[in-house]
Amino acid sequence: MIKQVTRHIVQNEPLLFEQSSPGKKGYQLPALDVPESDPEKVLGRENVRDEIDGFPEVSEFEALRHFTRLSTWNYAIDLGLYPLGSCTMKYNPRINELVARTEGVAWAHPYQPESLSQGCMEVIAALESALAEITGMDAVTLQPAAGAHGEFTGILMIRALLESRGNARKKILVPDSAHGTNPATAMMVGYTVENIKSNDRGMVDLGVLERVVTEDVAGLMITNPNTVGVFEENIRKICATLHDKGALVYMDGANMNALVGVARPGDFGVDVMHLNLHKTFSTPHGGGGPGSGAVAVAKVLTPFLPGPRLKREGDKWHWNYDLPQSTGRVRAYYGNFGVLVRALAYIMAHGGNGLRQATLDALLNANYIRTLLEPYYELAYKAPSMHECVFSDDRQAKHGIRTGDVAKRLIDYGFHPYTVSFPLIVRGAMMIEPTETEGKRDLDAFIDAMISIAKEVEETPELVAKAPHSTRTLRVDEVTAARKPVVRWIPRSTASQAAD
Ligand SMILES: *Cc1c(COP(=O)(O)O)cnc(C)c1O
Repeated sequence: MIKQVTRHIVQNEPLLFEQSSPGKKGYQLPALDVPESDPEKVLGRENVRDEIDGFPEVSEFEALRHFTRLSTWNYAIDLGLYPLGSCTMKYNPRINELVARTEGVAWAHPYQPESLSQGCMEVIAALESALAEITGMDAVTLQPAAGAHGEFTGILMIRALLESRGNARKKILVPDSAHGTNPATAMMVGYTVENIKSNDRGMVDLGVLERVVTEDVAGLMITNPNTVGVFEENIRKICATLHDKGALVYMDGANMNALVGVARPGDFGVDVMHLNLHKTFSTPHGGGGPGSGAVAVAKVLTPFLPGPRLKREGDKWHWNYDLPQSTGRVRAYYGNFGVLVRALAYIMAHGGNGLRQATLDALLNANYIRTLLEPYYELAYKAPSMHECVFSDDRQAKHGIRTGDVAKRLIDYGFHPYTVSFPLIVRGAMMIEPTETEGKRDLDAFIDAMISIAKEVEETPELVAKAPHSTRTLRVDEVTAARKPVVRWIPRSTASQAAD
């Protein structure tokens, strides 16, 4: 049964559009003391918006209350465990925020002259070198704004290197356990994708790999530890197999939370990889907020890095644009700078030993959950887990309950759900990543909830099938929401007309 029930003021909140009354304003301006001018004449026709139908008119206080109330509906890492596998939702130490809000850093402008930007350039240089050391690679770019963007940048560089050798080649190999962004990236860069099947331990099958690596293959995109939370134990041989045929190895480093301070991709043969600074190196993330998909490369790829690159001249930093082989910019300015500051603060506050300890604690937490839930849920692969563990809903499916139902029931217990139905190679996947920042008390509460749900599935499956029972919005029709999304507010008076 639910142990911790929280009852507090629950404020329901209509849409801002529904609170509107004509003529209300959130501002009061003094009377005009200059002649009134026509905005279209001053700003140009194209820069003046027409009246927006039904635009909400509310007071300042109504707008403030509206958004404050909505903010209380959110689940957040600062409220409780956020066990989304692959996402690495860890606590964001507040020292990062303090540093990122330092006046000279927070107010720096990307068009500031170099002479006034030396401190910010130093931050970029220090972070690049820390990440090069952590990954065992030769150079790092901080331009890409997200993991997927880093993948794109990395594969673009592989393509540029192969082109410089005379043949860009045709295919990128992607294991069947990969994140969906991997094949999408390969296609975006103009390659076709060949899927490779994992073996029964959830790893790349060397025999299969050897057969498919031909002269047509530009590279392999591999996640390590992979998305079933298992370390690819043949990673050196995998890299050698690709290199023997003149192909390259891209590592999706979204799971670096399992490796930092313990193993370095550069040492086991990876040519290029991205880091999700917004996962491994804290930074509040989720909901599409700013991120950073820093890309680290081995020496062969350094000439192809996006420009400009930092260069030291005497005792000053300087942006170097003279990079004849560069793939070019992938983003305006120098990346999401605020995220970079937070990542550097995180790395420096932890230090080498602290980062290593964080990794070991993440592994310990995931294995604690794995061990205590194994009697209740079917473990997808028996190989040792790293920083996350993946179960399937096989046992619950016998009672008609699937992974999505268990996830919805978790909400009633006060937890954010785990990752549902990913990775795709596990039927009914339940992917759980606790991260190092959770203490035993929170882990135990989560484990108790999962065990309690497993029992409910056997005794009262209908309760789980209809979950959640305690939320503002109960179960929604996800199929219709995906197939016929309504993403625009339509005034109630005309809604029925529009639906016709
Ligand atoms: C999160 C993630 C990505 C994509 O990163 P974004 O920053 O969301 O673009 C890619 N691969 C894996 C394994 C991930 O977990």
